Amino acid sequence: MCRVSRRELLLGGAALLAAAAESKSNAKTISAKPKTVQIGKVDQLSDGVYFHQGNLEVGHCNNGWIIFEDYVLVIDANFPSGAQEVIPKIKALTDKPIRFAFDTHHHGDHAYGNQVWVENGAVPVSHTGVIDEMKKYETGYYGGAPGRWEAAAKERPDVRGSKLKPPSVLFPREMIFDDGKHRVELIHLGVAHTHGDALAWLPKEKILFTGDACVNGPYNYVGDGNIEKWIATLEAAKKIGAKVVCPGHGARGTETVLNDQQKYFRSLREEVAKLVKAKKSPEQVRDSVEQVKAALKADTSIARYAEGSTLAHVEKVFEEMTGKKLPAAQKASLEARDLHAHAHGHSKSGNQASGHA
Ligand SMILES: [Zn+2]
Repeated sequence: MCRVSRRELLLGGAALLAAAAESKSNAKTISAKPKTVQIGKVDQLSDGVYFHQGNLEVGHCNNGWIIFEDYVLVIDANFPSGAQEVIPKIKALTDKPIRFAFDTHHHGDHAYGNQVWVENGAVPVSHTGVIDEMKKYETGYYGGAPGRWEAAAKERPDVRGSKLKPPSVLFPREMIFDDGKHRVELIHLGVAHTHGDALAWLPKEKILFTGDACVNGPYNYVGDGNIEKWIATLEAAKKIGAKVVCPGHGARGTETVLNDQQKYFRSLREEVAKLVKAKKSPEQVRDSVEQVKAALKADTSIARYAEGSTLAHVEKVFEEMTGKKLPAAQKASLEARDLHAHAHGHSKSGNQASGHA
């Protein structure tokens, strides 16, 4: 069932007209920064390379797509409704078949649309770690108790109307698409937002699609990853030499987005380390969250990351450093997690909450 509203269709139509005008002008240089807010608009980055900033109000992630000589490769499957929004926008630009949908990681807002892409002729592709993560969290699909999909289905009609389709074309480290004109390298650089993140790198255009290994704003969900390792993975991502960074959520930007995201986590760890060194009790650490938040927000380059689930971030770092959890922070933490989980289509009643509380 198509869940694209009339308004979305109209918005999409306007975006396509804009994209058509832009492609006619055949801009040779990629402007590193978008001129205006681009949510829901087709944003041409280069010849055959597109970015689409998803609407977070309905939980959608960002998408990208590359039009190769014979097929289209899409970056991130989105939620089913996100896939249904983007597919007509791609089809308006090219007659070439959409052959591959690359899941940057296993989360619902990046992978639950897989079945929609399959119905449109594409094969979901991912790093092998995505399957490992799905086996952990999508217990319902793998024959166990209801997992995240079933929890999301309770809240999202688009999930209810589709089914989980794990990727079936898998790569352990990297996979390369190269037809001589376009080259896209899908690469796993280590643990970050999850244990199965991979990025899409376009060496010719110096464009990096990061999935949620890098976001641009208060969208960091840290429950499934490891912040210490994430910092190292971002270091590896910085070395790639991207000029344009298309994050998993939020506006696209330049390589500074990678820097900012990494600096946020570094500063967060420094702030928590001060509390750990001062031998603060878990209760005291929990009660220091507003202070930590204020310290992080004082740095304008990272303030935008400290608007969201700071308590969940502090909890995660504290746990990584001490092996201890923050007592009685459970309720607030779950609330913070729900805020992000809402965007990711996870339910508070799902095993995500119980699995991490
Ligand atoms: Zn995610």
